[in-house]
Amino acid sequence: MPSSSTGRSNAALSETPLARTRRARKINRVLAEKYPYAHAELDFTNPFQLLVATVLSAQTTDVRVNQVTPLLFARYPNAIALAEADPAVVEDIIRPTGFFRAKAKSVIALSTSIVDQFDGDVPDTVAGLISLAGVGRKTANVVLGNAFGIPGITVDTHFGRLARRFGWTESTDPVVVEREVGELFPPSEWTMLSHRVVFHGRRICHARKPACGACPVATLCPSYGEGETDPVKAAKLLKYELAPGQEALLNSMLADTGGAAALRQEAQRALPIQRRQAFLED
Ligand code: SF4
Repeated sequence: MPSSSTGRSNAALSETPLARTRRARKINRVLAEKYPYAHAELDFTNPFQLLVATVLSAQTTDVRVNQVTPLLFARYPNAIALAEADPAVVEDIIRPTGFFRAKAKSVIALSTSIVDQFDGDVPDTVAGLISLAGVGRKTANVVLGNAFGIPGITVDTHFGRLARRFGWTESTDPVVVEREVGELFPPSEWTMLSHRVVFHGRRICHARKPACGACPVATLCPSYGEGETDPVKAAKLLKYELAPGQEALLNSMLADTGGAAALRQEAQRALPIQRRQAFLED
């Protein structure tokens, strides 16, 4: 399709809902082939850890959060322990993640809510999660999708930008984006779709300079041409394991694809199987 150098092609603007759905699902399939190793980049072994790590990840990188959480969870393995923590000690541990005073307050407050309202267990519904101090819809969907295996679309800055570039939505309201994109895919795809789109946004479809000339979904994207279209120049814009000279990293991530899936499944065993199946039914 690439036909426009400034934005959406006329074909995409006038496409039928069915054509949009088909195109969206093709993009998802191509991204699944490109990023078979896509996964939640925060380290966790249970819903409580993922919830806390997600709160800590605001305004910083997942890598930095992963550096502090082993010590944090060794000291405070559950909500009861963290609810009773000395804020100064928590602040010290999480300092490298930035905004550490506010974040310490948040994770202690949400642990207190979990203890007071949910007997110490992280709730497994959007309503329950967003009732916790400092937890919004995005965090709730991250926890549901990745720790409980309940489908959720996580609309962060990357997901919103790409959903608009793909012509899946025109909205900048995360709740509307979540709803409109959700209508294009079966719920069983929502969580992995979120990871793939965010991976693509971080590596290829950057906010300022998308690398259109090196993009695997270029022929399906109405925004082709918003960024660099020259293949050689575009290849130099790629990041992380796709960056020039990072072939060894890419190969190790591809080799570890099965391991990442196994870890995900292990984490999702926290939820009874009947409940997961009910959500995954199409
Ligand atoms: S890099 Fe370009 S072609 Fe690829 S998804 Fe982004 S805007 Fe579309």
